[in-house]
Amino acid sequence: MSAETVIPVPAEWAARAKVDTARYAEMYRQSLGAPDAFWLEHGRRIDWIKPFTKVSNWSFDEADFGIKWFEDGVLNVSANCLDRHLESRGDDIAIIWEPDDPKAEPRRISYRELHAEVCRFANVLKAAGAKKGDRITIYLPMIPEAAFAMLACTRIGAIHSVVFGGFSPDSIAGRVQDCDSNIIITADEGLRGGRKVALKANVDVAVESCPSVKKVVVVRHTGGEVAMTAGRDFWYHEAAAGVSADCPPEPMGAEDPLFILYTSGSTGKPKGVLHTTGGYLVWASLTHELLFDYRRGEIYWCAADVGWVTGHSYIVYGPLANGATTLMYEGVPNWPTPSRIWEVVDRHQVNILYTAPTVLRSLMREGDGPVTSTSRKSLRLLGTVGEPINPEAWLWYHRVPGEGRCPIIDTWWQTETGAAMIAPFPGATDLKPGSATKPFFGVALEIVDADGKVLEGATEGNLVVTRSWPGQMRTVWGDHARFFQTYFSTYKGKYFTGDGCRRDADGYFWITGRVDDVINVSGHRMGTAEVESALVAHAKVAEAAVVGFPHDIKGQGIYAYVTLNAGEEPSDDLRSELVKWVRTEIGPIATPDTIQFSPGLPKTRSGKIMRRILRKIAEGDTSNLGDTTTLADPSVVDSLVANRAR
Ligand code: ATP
Ligand code: MG
Repeated sequence: MSAETVIPVPAEWAARAKVDTARYAEMYRQSLGAPDAFWLEHGRRIDWIKPFTKVSNWSFDEADFGIKWFEDGVLNVSANCLDRHLESRGDDIAIIWEPDDPKAEPRRISYRELHAEVCRFANVLKAAGAKKGDRITIYLPMIPEAAFAMLACTRIGAIHSVVFGGFSPDSIAGRVQDCDSNIIITADEGLRGGRKVALKANVDVAVESCPSVKKVVVVRHTGGEVAMTAGRDFWYHEAAAGVSADCPPEPMGAEDPLFILYTSGSTGKPKGVLHTTGGYLVWASLTHELLFDYRRGEIYWCAADVGWVTGHSYIVYGPLANGATTLMYEGVPNWPTPSRIWEVVDRHQVNILYTAPTVLRSLMREGDGPVTSTSRKSLRLLGTVGEPINPEAWLWYHRVPGEGRCPIIDTWWQTETGAAMIAPFPGATDLKPGSATKPFFGVALEIVDADGKVLEGATEGNLVVTRSWPGQMRTVWGDHARFFQTYFSTYKGKYFTGDGCRRDADGYFWITGRVDDVINVSGHRMGTAEVESALVAHAKVAEAAVVGFPHDIKGQGIYAYVTLNAGEEPSDDLRSELVKWVRTEIGPIATPDTIQFSPGLPKTRSGKIMRRILRKIAEGDTSNLGDTTTLADPSVVDSLVANRAR
């Protein structure tokens, strides 16, 4: 397998695509050459109550720092996602809901029904005292009510903060306190992989330390028993029965806050990323339509959770603004069997599937059988997001689930960027497995060295963005100084992504991982993603995480945590084989000093490996592992510490 494989745009894609190769080049040039003219045109893709006359107004410099897009425009996000579709496609399905239990009934909600649900939810919130500008925390499972609640907030101009339904009471409390929420929306229980999650009980504990919370709205989902505090808690279905299904959308300024979302916490204390109304919606909807080549009537499934930004932009706002049919799945991809994800594809005839490398690696582990036992004939495009996708997983995704006919759209972006920033256009960009390829319209990228020197041509360094784009975050909630400090102080006048990146001779971008994760062995800098990709390319390895640790001679040594495929046993022979393997795949400089076989890796709830913790374990500094509350399974850490390799 070569990382430099090129998969050309299939002829039928080039012929029917919304954006072909020539059009991409021309539009990209326009978007940077005359950005205000470009965004004047594309800003009109959404409905404005009062059209904007000013397009952009921003500076990344400390003296006049600020970011505004479409600033004098007035709009409402829920009206864009609902009302404007009623006449043309009111009976089209907006949301298909696939329950955790494969034997339970799916739900299909038309745009007309969704409109009524959202209005009712908005009226319930109003009756509970919610006003424009209030912060409302949403702690729900992956049920349609999560989308109703988000859209209801936007309808009345309240700012939502969605907290992933698997977080602990402490994580909820921290996020509620940070933005002073007055209302929490939750459910009795969630269901994931057949297991119940005590959502309401978690909220009860969290609220003890959250004096700002006045009301708790409880959606009945499993019917499980919960405690209700009189005067504070009420059932959603009871309140909804008494309100009207009509709620006029609140006119919002383009720069009024839309939502706060706390980042996944891979690198430290979560930040309250704030997105605003107009620019975000333009960015989410435009990227959704063009990168996924979305066409009316297609079934689109983003298998993320609404608790992280991918769910905001690509389950709810992007697709619904585009009048798409978006599938929401309550459960986990490999339950009750590793075929589940493909069974859901077949059941609902999904055309476009968007998931994460971590999911793909866990499915690859089980072999091709669980995939090939399903049809998947409906699929025509596959997407990925969240981490660098190693070429091995990319090629598997393309060859096995996609049967070689579906383009793989690898989208690089961040909570901070609102929606995709680097990604191939399916009808325009030749694919290279492992590369997110080329920037989206309006995205001006540079690669710089540690001192900020701009590196030209084929090179490797730190990835920065030199111009603002409509979907950019506007501040860290309550801490504007931290916003500037975190993103704009490292390289003057530029947005620093925190990610390392290589650009090849064809101008393709390859994210090498977070800059914090770069290791320096005897003066050679390398991204952890590269070593991990080499390990995962071995037939017996399912997943790998690589970190540096202090080494007397080399400065830093390489410590690799390796998870084996189902049925493989750890052994000293295999350890030597893997060391040899990496030496031949990359070179002697990348030789792992230590390999620790581990059945699991510490991952955030969004499936990302928390290398911060692995670094501490590798260094032998296990007394203070920092904030581990955002981990999916904190017990993994204990087992890693106990089995630390010396
Ligand atoms: P925190 O910022 O709190 O540490 P996080 O960075 O994991 O958390 P996200 O905003 O969800 O939170 O993730 C963005 C990061 O994920 C990017 O900066 C990048 O490191 C990685 N990433 C996302 N998509 C891709 C991709 N397609 N290829 C490579 N890396 C990706
Ligand atoms: Mg980040």
